[in-house]
Amino acid sequence: MEYFICANCGKKVPFRSFGTRNRNHCPHCLHSLHVDRSSGDRSSKCKGLMAPYGRFNKDDGEHMLVHKCTKCGFIRWNRIAGDDDFELFKGLNTVKDPR
Ligand SMILES: [Zn+2]
Ligand SMILES: [Zn+2]
Repeated sequence: MEYFICANCGKKVPFRSFGTRNRNHCPHCLHSLHVDRSSGDRSSKCKGLMAPYGRFNKDDGEHMLVHKCTKCGFIRWNRIAGDDDFELFKGLNTVKDPR
């Protein structure tokens, strides 16, 4: 199975999981890497650590996780995956929908 090593907690994270086709953050600590300029394009040269920054609900109630790059301040949001640490997610601050 294809996986990546989380840059924050060092755990092995498989790319595919329930509820997501293109995982971009760690389900254990919710950290990610700044590798995209727009979702999935892998074109950013930054490669900074994207820390979980906040959360918001879309109009249809879907939970969205907001990441902020600790290196350049870039902000991005993603759907959460079925096996993300929901307790950790719930503890994040609610932010205004950044779209
Ligand atoms: Zn992690
Ligand atoms: Zn960055």
